[in-house]
Order: sequence, then C-alpha cells, then structure tokens
Amino acid sequence: MTETTAKAVPVLPDAQTVTEVKHYTDSLFSFRTTRPASLRFRSGEFVMIGLMGDPDPKTGKQRPLLRAYSIASPSWDEEMEFYSIKVANGPLTSKLQHIKVGDQVILKPKPVGTLVHDAVLPGKRMYFFATGTGFAPFASLLREPQTYEDYDEIIMTHTCREVAELTYGRDLIEGLKSDELLNEVIGEGFWKKIKYYPTTTREESPKMGRITTLIENGELFADLGVPALDPATDRAMVCGSLAFNLDIKALLEKAGLNEGANSEPGEFVIEKAFVG
Ligand SMILES: Cc1cc2nc3c(=O)[nH]c(=O)nc-3n(C[C@H](O)[C@H](O)[C@H](O)COP(=O)(O)OP(=O)(O)OC[C@H]3O[C@@H](n4cnc5c(N)ncnc54)[C@H](O)[C@@H]3O)c2cc1C
Repeated sequence: MTETTAKAVPVLPDAQTVTEVKHYTDSLFSFRTTRPASLRFRSGEFVMIGLMGDPDPKTGKQRPLLRAYSIASPSWDEEMEFYSIKVANGPLTSKLQHIKVGDQVILKPKPVGTLVHDAVLPGKRMYFFATGTGFAPFASLLREPQTYEDYDEIIMTHTCREVAELTYGRDLIEGLKSDELLNEVIGEGFWKKIKYYPTTTREESPKMGRITTLIENGELFADLGVPALDPATDRAMVCGSLAFNLDIKALLEKAGLNEGANSEPGEFVIEKAFVG
C-alpha cells in the first residue's frame, strides 16, 4: 500500500480575504477584506499591505511585496477597507488592481500614523485637507464617532484633477446620511456637522482650483461661511503629496497653528499619501 501525503495548500503569511472590490476610474479602486481578529487600531492610522511578489529568478523564492496603506474603515468596523491608486508599472498596484472577491492579501497588523485624534489638541472646527487617495484616512475618521464628539464642525476638502476621481469620497459622505447604524450610534443627523468642499484642478466642475489657492484668496472661507483660520478654534489634518503637504503646512503655520504628533499634540497633523 502506498502512503499518500496531503499536499499543503499555500497560505500567505498574515493573509486576509477580499470581500468586496469597487472600481471608480482607470486609476482608482477600493476594496474590503476580513479583519485580523487581534488587530486594534485608531481611526486614521495606516498598515502595510500587499501580495506575494514574483519568484526570484535565481532562487525561485517568493517574498511579500508590501506598501503602506491608510485604513479607510473606522476602528469599529468588522472588516478592513482600503482606497487605492493603480500605478501602471507600480510593483504592487499593477497586480493589486486585479484582485477579486475571495482572493488573499497580506496585511501586517501593526498600525501606525499621525492622523489620529490623540495627536490633536481640542478645538471647535476640524479641517480635513485631502488630495487624491489622501482621502483614505478621512474615510475612516468621517465614520469615527469621536470626530463628532470632539468638533462642532468638520470641513472635508478633497481636490483631484478630474470629477470622477471625487466619486469615492462623494459617495462615502452621501452614504453617511442614510447609514442607520452611524445615525443611531453617533446621533441622528450627525452628518450635518460636515461641510464637504470638493474641487478639481483640471476638469470643469462647480468649484475649481487648488485648495491652497482657495485658502490664500479666502474663497474657501467665504464659500463655507466660516471665519479665516484661527489657532484658538481651528484644527487640521492633512493628507496628500509631499508638495501639497508642505504648501498646506506653510499656510497653517502662517495662520498660527502648530504641528502636533502622537508624543506632543498640536493644532494640526500631516501624513504623506505616498512617497515620490
Ligand atoms: C503613510 C502612507 C500611506 C499610504 N496610503 C495609501 C493609500 O491609502 N492608498 C494608496 O493608493 N496609496 C497609499 N500609499 C502609497 C502606497 O504605499 C504605494 O506607493 C502605492 O500603493 C503604489 O504602490 P506600487 O508598488 O504600485 O508603486 P510604487 O513604486 O510604490 O509607486 C510608484 C509611483 O507612483 C506614485 N504613487 C504611489 N502611490 C500613489 C498614490 N496613492 N497617489 C498618487 N501617486 C502615487 C508615486 O509617484 C510613486 O513614486 C501610502 C503611502 C504612505 C507612505
């Protein structure tokens, strides 16, 4: 009699299963996965996620290909959500953009980041400034009850080149209105505290322009009917390209706001949406 050995099914390290995938444009998609049972995180933090890379041509060994990703779901969600770019020749996203429900992704359960309530001093009005996929951490924070406990007003600005690139954020904010769980947990009509300010820089839309320009010329404040930035009342979280972050940081500092960190809370905090 011959002995048969069951072939081991390869299981990725720290594997999570994809439960939903949505595509918005040629360069943007979002997906949801199962959540590691042990993972605790603060809304606004990021983790390393990825897939197995191609086999090494010499050794044939595969290594995980990981990148930093903001967690777009709130801390209380049973699943994880991510909002992703598709970079044509990007080592990870050229593959990640093809994931389907039931596939596995690697998720390292070590959350970190500065876009957290703990790193910001109490205030009256919170500005979330995002460009592109920089909306992701705010998708988490906009569904976090503490955001509405801590602030009277939340101003969500999102700037993209094309109108379609605003879809994920727009749908998310629209969805808050009819989200029964959030209205029950946070308080009926909580979403009325949000002032949403989408702008485009290339395609024609109701509000065009870089948010830095709209801050400098005062249009942002005039459009929303709020006073100019004031360190006594206003707080900010920023997530975009390095250049965008530096421009906003300069404007916030000019208005008298100081940058904070987990170790020393301040009036604003910043995180890069990507490196490069
Ligand atoms: C703290 C942090 C959080 C991040 N969170 C997210 C997130 O929530 N969603 C997300 O899509 N990416 C996020 N990124 C970027 C992410 O880590 C990867 O760079 C991205 O997934 C592309 O991976 P890649 O291997 O395909 O290409 P890479 O080799 O990593 O990038 C190739 C080039 O593409 C450009 N690029 C990369 N990411 C972006 C982006 N998001 N928007 C515009 N251009 C980009 C850059 O010019 C970069 O040099 C984050 C990065 C950091 C540092």
